[in-house]
Amino acid sequence: MKSSINPYTQEKLYSFKELTTKQLKEKLQQSHECFLEWQETTFEQRSDLMNRAAKVLVENKTLYAETISKEMGKPISQAVAEIEKCAWVCEYYADKAKDQLKDEIIETDAQKSYVSYEPLGIILAVMPWNYPFWQVFRFAAPNLMAGNVGVLKHASNVMKSAELIAEVFTEAGFPEGCFQNLIIGSDLVETVLENEWVKAATLTGSKPAGGSVAAIAGKHIKKTVLELGGSNALIVFEDADLDSTVKTCVQARFQNTGQSCIAGKRLLVHQNIMEEFVDLFIKQVRELKSGDPMDENTYIGTLAREDLAEDLEKQVLKSIEMGAKLLLGGKRNGSYYEPTVLTNVTEKMPIFKEETFGPAIGITAFQSDEEAIRFSNNSEFGLGVSLFTKDTEKALKLAPCFEEGAVFINELVKSDPRLPFGGIKISGYGRELSSHGIREFVNKKTVYLK
Ligand code: NAP
Repeated sequence: MKSSINPYTQEKLYSFKELTTKQLKEKLQQSHECFLEWQETTFEQRSDLMNRAAKVLVENKTLYAETISKEMGKPISQAVAEIEKCAWVCEYYADKAKDQLKDEIIETDAQKSYVSYEPLGIILAVMPWNYPFWQVFRFAAPNLMAGNVGVLKHASNVMKSAELIAEVFTEAGFPEGCFQNLIIGSDLVETVLENEWVKAATLTGSKPAGGSVAAIAGKHIKKTVLELGGSNALIVFEDADLDSTVKTCVQARFQNTGQSCIAGKRLLVHQNIMEEFVDLFIKQVRELKSGDPMDENTYIGTLAREDLAEDLEKQVLKSIEMGAKLLLGGKRNGSYYEPTVLTNVTEKMPIFKEETFGPAIGITAFQSDEEAIRFSNNSEFGLGVSLFTKDTEKALKLAPCFEEGAVFINELVKSDPRLPFGGIKISGYGRELSSHGIREFVNKKTVYLK
């Protein structure tokens, strides 16, 4: 049985009976049968349906957003924004997929040679709870447009969201089996992956989950895309515009109550502006309103589960024990964790070294560009980094020095349907979104006519 528990009220919301192995096989059979017809549909037919999915999302955004807020504690205004972004990614691929997947002519000594992009079949998506709708739609929109069909194994605490997502596609008119929600635990993921009709998997989540799914997929010679954790640095150079930088850094760390892979988790500030920066930063963090996730004015909700708040508390306490100075916050109440700021943070402390998945940030001073780059790269993760400076020419020159999937200048790292998204190092491999994302799970077929 999978249950959703409201982390703010502790109320048990929904229970879901897990699929038996037999039911699971029947569902995969249905997906396969759907694929045989779906792959023959035109881009125009798929676009019509995908645009309708966008409409269904917008029409029902209050219901979907409230479900997100109740299941995992996201402040309601941020949950509404999440649904709107899902509609955007549907519209984006409805418009662009045909062009992104058109045959690519390559001049050789042949009369004609080209690459065509063909769908593979059923793709499994294993998804986390932190953006319960967005993570799924950024997988589903490109893949259904490419002619694949999708099955979802969502995180156990957001199964109502998973059910509603499947209903979006049904309501939009997609054929039965085109996108299915599988109510299963991680123990049945292997059964899905070893099924002959399941051709590949994408996982967004932690390193252990990614490693496990990739190992099983590897055993069966099936491709994976992994979007794992991150510990992005926010680097504030001496000449940064402080007002806009502070505002962006606060948002980068504290939106979604800090539970984002691409959140700015390590704040690196040039020592000459440290005092002024910290004063402004603390002032803005103090103003963030904590409270009931269902309240429009709440910016900081609860963490999705109490154990996640406990983990964060341990990381902060250990860092303080190692010499970090607590400037703000540091207290936990059930699944709520206060917005927390630490200074005097060194590279050995958990707040620097580990991924922190909640509203806490450590600040470290640097003295030179070289040192900022070294600090930033001193991480197992490689998802993204933000640089704040007025010298944008310098920032562009520094971009190749960072071991990251993305470098954003004077902006927080964010996902955008038009740009590829993904990491290196233990942040994973492969890309989602843009033309790169839609080409991950297709057969890139070479055709050669002598
Ligand atoms: P998680 O525990 O790894 O769970 C993610 C998904 O994987 C869930 O559906 C989970 O199912 C499943 N899972 C867990 N262990 C598994 C296994 N051994 N085999 C198969 N499936 C397994 O991660 P989380 O706590 O939900 O999410 C937080 C992590 O996700 C953070 O590290 C964060 O940075 C990362 N993340 C990355 C991105 C990105 O795009 N790079 C985006 C968002 C989050 P159950 O719920 O049933 O355990």
